[in-house]
Amino acid sequence: MPIDPTQPYDNANIFAKILRGEIPCNRVYEDEWALAFEDINPQAEIHTLVIPKGAYVSWDDFSARANAEEIAGFVRAVGMVARDKGLVEPGYRLLANTGVHGGQEVPHLHVHLFGGQPLGPMILRR
Ligand code: AMP
Repeated sequence: MPIDPTQPYDNANIFAKILRGEIPCNRVYEDEWALAFEDINPQAEIHTLVIPKGAYVSWDDFSARANAEEIAGFVRAVGMVARDKGLVEPGYRLLANTGVHGGQEVPHLHVHLFGGQPLGPMILRR
């Protein structure tokens, strides 16, 4: 079920538990600002999630409330993971689902990093 994008941050969400080490993840990168791990249900050859360390519900929440260091640290981490995975050539796709129309299900900001194959059209039109 897509989340309500206006809800307050829920400390019990699954990515908060991963950040606290309460449940495992297949970690690929971590620094002061971000954690990256493999998606449990990959939608492409490479499907990695990058999340900020701070408690932000969504891209909307993060872009409105995070400070400049947090934003820079998170964006740099996303780029670093893509480079570390060798995705700059031939390319990759980033996706941050937000709110009901975006289909966001986990209420902690995450950027999906897709790659390892041609990724097709940006949006499937009905
Ligand atoms: P979204 O629909 O943008 O909120 O995406 C949530 C993503 O989190 C989905 O791609 C799920 O497969 C992924 N996911 C959910 N639980 C876990 C988990 N424990 N470890 C890794 N990925 C997860």
